[in-house]
Amino acid sequence: MKIPYGRQVIEDDDIQAVISVLKSDFLTQGPKVPDFEALISTYVNAKFAIAMNSATSALHLACITLDLKEGDIVWTSPNSFVASANCALYCKAIVDFIDISLSDFNIDINVLEKKLQKAKKDGKLPKILIPVHFGGKSCDMKRISELQKEYGFKVIEDASHAIGGSYENNRVGSCEYSDITIFSFHPVKIVTTGEGGMALTNSAELAKKLSLLKTHGITREREDFCGSLKEEPVCYYEQQHLGYNFRMTDISAALGVSQGKKIDRFIQQRRQIAKAYDEAFTSAGIVFQKQTENVVSAYHLYVIQVEHKNQMIKYLHQNGILVNCHYIPIYLQPYYANTFGFKAGYCPNSETYYKKAISLPMYATLKDFEIEYIIEKILQYGK
Ligand SMILES: *Cc1c(COP(=O)(O)O)cnc(C)c1O
Repeated sequence: MKIPYGRQVIEDDDIQAVISVLKSDFLTQGPKVPDFEALISTYVNAKFAIAMNSATSALHLACITLDLKEGDIVWTSPNSFVASANCALYCKAIVDFIDISLSDFNIDINVLEKKLQKAKKDGKLPKILIPVHFGGKSCDMKRISELQKEYGFKVIEDASHAIGGSYENNRVGSCEYSDITIFSFHPVKIVTTGEGGMALTNSAELAKKLSLLKTHGITREREDFCGSLKEEPVCYYEQQHLGYNFRMTDISAALGVSQGKKIDRFIQQRRQIAKAYDEAFTSAGIVFQKQTENVVSAYHLYVIQVEHKNQMIKYLHQNGILVNCHYIPIYLQPYYANTFGFKAGYCPNSETYYKKAISLPMYATLKDFEIEYIIEKILQYGK
């Protein structure tokens, strides 16, 4: 038996959706990308959705769109995938990290508040905050939004883990408390397009900029033309900004449309698995990510905290349970440590957390007997 920590769920209708695009006229820049964007923007109740080739690309363009420039400051969580911080470096900004709470593994809002007070005194306030909804559990966006009003930074939610989750009465992605929200459709995430990502926003201006930048900074809309050649014939287009080719293909988007209809079912299945884990680990006194009443997690990851992590991982791997670890504090990565001089001890909770963190298998098609087997092996460990 080999049970991975995460994997995609691809069904016959997903396969058919991709085949039909392959037989159609457009492999890219066809109708499937707008279909997928409409599906997700409706689902999360955001005005605009811009599909891209990855969440990393979407984070990058979100930073550019919010006018991030050389020397500006971005704060994010150290307990995330490196892309949450790299996006700022692409814009030559300075990245700093907010330590996490040992109860829910998201950034600690009290630490954030203290750091903002100090940064204000020092004249070093961040231009953008990128909260990461770790494991699919939304950060406390109301408190973040209160601080945002007081200190004047912009907010990009890195919701790569969190599509299908909600905060208060809104789906994550509604951008109720942020400027832009980012989703990832990598195969280990909730739903997949192979590679893929999306930016959600309620601002028409930001949406327009994001759309332009994902396709070379080129527009074909006559009303947007600003150059001297604007009266030229139909094949005319204008490059107005230095953009990129971050487009999603129609092949990916067709898979996304098919998968997007299954978000609620997948989340329901993940919640069932989490419930089984929660019950078993509560009675065994094993620590796991704490949930909050006003949040519904998408349960991208299910992390437990254990004392003898490496031995336990070896033991679980030997038993076919291919657990993983999320995340090495970003600032301890050699690139960050060597380039910016970050040292061990910078965010103590993130380091304590990581020393004990194991991500258990979590995906919609995990079977009951597999869940029981995983729980049994964990409870047996060290006995
Ligand atoms: C997966 C992930 C990303 C990057 O997503 P890609 O679509 O692979 O670029 C960014 N942030 C977080 C928190 C992630 O988990």
